[in-house]
Parts: sequence; C-alpha cells; structure tokens
Amino acid sequence: MWRFDAHVHSVASDGTDSLESLALKASEANLDGFALTDHDLLPDPNFLLALGANHNLTIVPGAEISTSHEGASAHLLAYFVRPNMQELADLLTRTRSSREDRLKQIVERIGADYPQITWERLVELHGPKTSSDDGPWGRPHVADLLIEEQIVPHRSAAFENVLNHDGPYYVAQWAADPREAVEVVKRAGAVPVLAHPLSLMRQRPLPGKILEEMTELGLFGIERDHREHDDEDRFKVDQIAAKLGLVTTGGSDYHGSGKPNELGENLTKRSVLEEIERAAL
Ligand code: AMP
Ligand code: FE
Ligand code: FE
Ligand code: ZN
Repeated sequence: MWRFDAHVHSVASDGTDSLESLALKASEANLDGFALTDHDLLPDPNFLLALGANHNLTIVPGAEISTSHEGASAHLLAYFVRPNMQELADLLTRTRSSREDRLKQIVERIGADYPQITWERLVELHGPKTSSDDGPWGRPHVADLLIEEQIVPHRSAAFENVLNHDGPYYVAQWAADPREAVEVVKRAGAVPVLAHPLSLMRQRPLPGKILEEMTELGLFGIERDHREHDDEDRFKVDQIAAKLGLVTTGGSDYHGSGKPNELGENLTKRSVLEEIERAAL
C-alpha cells in the first residue's frame, strides 16, 4: 500500500526534527513520502527534492497557514508551494512577524508571574529568528523554556495550563482571513486544503457559510484523517466534502518529540495526492 503522510512539521517551525531526521524517520515508518507543512513558512523545494531522492521518498513542499475569522483560528494547508510565490511569501512574512509580536506579549504576561521567563532567555534557547528564511515563533518554543526552567515537565503539560488559549497569559495573533488565504494560495498556483476543521482543541470551527465561500474561491480539499478528529468528526467531514465537492486528506501533524503524534498515523490516498498535484499550476 502507498503510504503518504500529508501533514508534517520540522524544527523550522514548531517541530523538533531536522529535515534529514524527518526523512530517516519517514523511511523507518515505511512511508513512500510526506508533505512538509511547517507553519507560515515556505520550504526550499530543491533541498526537499534532493533529500527525497537520497531517501527514495516523495517529499511535497507545503505550508500550514495561520488564519483567523472572528476570533476562530483555522489552519490552511497549501501544497506545491514555491519560494518565488511572492504574494504568498509576503503574507507569510507578515504572519510570522505578527506571531513574534504576539509571543513577546505572551512571554511578558507569563514573566509577571514567572520572572525566569523572558524574551532574552527564549532567544537564547531557540533564536534568534532574524533572517527571512527563519521559521516562525510559536507557543511550543515558550513551552520548551518552561520545561528548561522546570515549571512544566513537557510541551503537552505546558499547553494544558500556562499556554492554554483559555488561560490568563494567552494573546491571539493577527492572521489573514481564511478566504483571503485561499485566494492568495490559488493565485500563487498552489493547492489549498483546510486542516483539521473540527478539532475542538483549537477553539470553535469556522461557520459553514465561510467554508462554502472558501470553496467558491478555490478550496480544493479538507483534512479528514487527523488524530484530533474522532469517528463522528470524520463522518461529518465526509458529508461536508461530498456537499462541497472537496477531496479528503489525512496526515499525522507530526511535531517530533513535543507531541504524541506519530509519523504516518494518518495518510492520504495516492489518487488524492495525484489530484492535488494536477490542481497545482
Ligand atoms: P501557536 O501556533 O503559537 O498558537 O501554538 C500552537 C501550536 O502548538 C500548534 O501548532 C501545535 O503544534 C502546538 N501544540 C498545541 N497543543 C500542543 C500540545 N498539547 N503539545 C505540544 N504542542 C502543542
Ligand atoms: Fe504546530
Ligand atoms: Fe494545524
Ligand atoms: Zn500542523
């Protein structure tokens, strides 16, 4: 059976594996390939092509774009992205910058209660992220500092309390409207797929009307098989996909050692990947 994991993060965003390590682990997990979908970052397609060739893997260059609609956050996967997609690159640069401003505010709030948590310490641990190729800041980076300072034992514990979006330290980031993000991805010639639409861990889902509008603007697919979707969610996603004429995908949302997700735990059909590839310009 063809095994393709369409949702994978590296250390360039908030995963913990290098690209080389991802390729090794993908082979160990008997994958034929995966899509690299770091948050708000365009990967180097030539590097991925060479890495894939070395490991006999199909590695699709992708990205997971932060979006927000009336306070609801949604993630939009984009497949077959290229660094020279200027409008998309500009949108992601703006999003990364808003992530940094927002994380500084979160760190400041936490620092009021835990003085050892400072932006300087965070940069010492992870950064600095100053070049245009550097990935985005995210709460998992603060989680690592909380672990380092022995305030929490692991990333998941950090998200259960200090970093929780219902907690006192949380600050939301600016992100594009999901419809605008679909338009930008489409104009770039890449293929937009809505990530984990029913995951309750991520606040409320987008209204059906917004999904319809995204589809009119060129949304191509919707992620069905994801660990944060139970059987009932998957059934609902099938119904939405049938109604709107979207393909359904699956992926692990692997982040390395910071999350329980295992590479290859959810997969995308070969025929679906081929449709996505044909839809890319
Ligand atoms: P942010 O993008 O800064 O809002 O942080 C959210 C990111 O944190 C998501 O992309 C997840 O990858 C990660 N995350 C969310 N929950 C957890 C968790 N329980 N354990 C580890 N990482 C998590
Ligand atoms: Fe993440
Ligand atoms: Fe996501
Ligand atoms: Zn993800």
